[in-house]
Amino acid sequence: MSISSSGRTYRVALVAHDAQKQRMVEWVGENRDVFDDAKIFSTGTTGGLLLKSYPDLKVTPLKSGPLGGDQQIGALICEEKLDALIFFTDPLSPLPHDVDVKALTRLATVYDLPSACSPSTANLIVHGMRDTFL
Ligand code: PGA
Repeated sequence: MSISSSGRTYRVALVAHDAQKQRMVEWVGENRDVFDDAKIFSTGTTGGLLLKSYPDLKVTPLKSGPLGGDQQIGALICEEKLDALIFFTDPLSPLPHDVDVKALTRLATVYDLPSACSPSTANLIVHGMRDTFL
């Protein structure tokens, strides 16, 4: 496991709904300085796309979101094993696992975990992470 100059490894969950997956891949590419040394947890499809574009990233792929991946990330939040949740949601489509999405964002609030559902807020989080971890 790589350690940043702060001595701490940044642990982040990255998830994107289908309509936002390409944006997530681009956004991670725009912020490689933060993610190169991070420990990344991702739902199955999102993680697979990230690894395809950036094979050097340290991505732990979980189950696909609709098959329980969102809940696996929720468990990581409960266990306080994450420093941030970045979840690019699709606000314009009904999804079969909407209830899981709500549960995940609720847990992030319960544990006061920095979380973002869109790129502009995610930019603010990675800005803070640069100060804390790089
Ligand atoms: P996926 O899951 O990355 O496996 O598509 C994301 C989601 O829809 O929660």
